[in-house]
Amino acid sequence: MDQLLSSAAEFIKTSDVLIITAGAGLSVDGGIPDFVDVKKALPEISHLGLNVFEISNDIIFMNDPRFAWGVYGKRMDDYRKASPHEGYYILLRWCLAKKDWWVYTSNIDQHFLRAGFPKERVVECHRSLYEFQCSVPCCDDVWDGRDVKVDYDEVTLVVNGDIPRCRHCGDAARPCTVLAVDSRWLRAYTEEQEEL
Ligand SMILES: [Zn+2]
Repeated sequence: MDQLLSSAAEFIKTSDVLIITAGAGLSVDGGIPDFVDVKKALPEISHLGLNVFEISNDIIFMNDPRFAWGVYGKRMDDYRKASPHEGYYILLRWCLAKKDWWVYTSNIDQHFLRAGFPKERVVECHRSLYEFQCSVPCCDDVWDGRDVKVDYDEVTLVVNGDIPRCRHCGDAARPCTVLAVDSRWLRAYTEEQEEL
């Protein structure tokens, strides 16, 4: 194992270009539960026996937006409480010493950006929880939702008042992140980034 690690370190050290690929594991290290395990990520509603496909789909934001927004409001809060750990800063230091570099991540917590990685160098292939779009969608607009706080019941995860709404048509908004079942996600920006 030690030999494998030192040869990996040697490759990283002597390379001109670095491409970082990061999935749920990097976030889990920062205290963010993997959403695929619904029972662990959302213990409040484990008694409902819902799986990830039943709470992560594009229809729920139209059919049951107050529950959908309770679940995603809770997720946004959980992610806000966690900060990018030291690993992100080490990776940034390595990247800045290279001729060229990119980050490709499926994580939607924006921790690479919060740690100081420039947005144009980070491909978020599932985009992020903190950008919003229309649930329909009525148009291609995506807007910043970082400061949006959702007021939900801590036990049922149902929103108490109103939900975040599309600023164009007034229908339910939703995070601009690809859901487990999703034909309404606005993917244009992510595809442009992937092309680069
Ligand atoms: Zn709309």
